[in-house]
Amino acid sequence: MIKVEGSFDNQPASLAELKVTAAHEWGHRLVGKARGAIVNITSVVRSGSTLGYNIIAPNPSRGIKEQFLDSLVSFFGGEAAEEAIGHTDQRGCGSDIFQAWRQAELISRFFYNGSVAAGDIISWGRSTARSIVYDYGINHLKDRALGLMERQAIV
Ligand SMILES: [Zn+2]
Repeated sequence: MIKVEGSFDNQPASLAELKVTAAHEWGHRLVGKARGAIVNITSVVRSGSTLGYNIIAPNPSRGIKEQFLDSLVSFFGGEAAEEAIGHTDQRGCGSDIFQAWRQAELISRFFYNGSVAAGDIISWGRSTARSIVYDYGINHLKDRALGLMERQAIV
């Protein structure tokens, strides 16, 4: 969920870059919450090459498999939000997608004994995150992202 690409150390982010980061991080937040996860903080405070981050904990009242699936869907929240606001260069989502694949491989192996392919779990996670973001509404997402930009971090 940490967005690291698209900028360089000590170089101020452009306004356009900040908007994308804010939407990306809000996407993780709203998807995580929609899946029942506990979101402790959403930040667009820059730190070195990190543009923003979320701290999201799975909901312990849900089953272990559901927690893994919730986490997987949350990884796609940033990508889904970027897509929703029309940002097509999604290279900044690379670490999220890498982590989603690792999660999907674990889910496939430990909860389905390999009978459901990691790629199918990825497809499901991506489309579930997209549905959550589009149900939330693009204008709503943009408003919240602007609010996050103003406040820098939301707990
Ligand atoms: Zn992310």
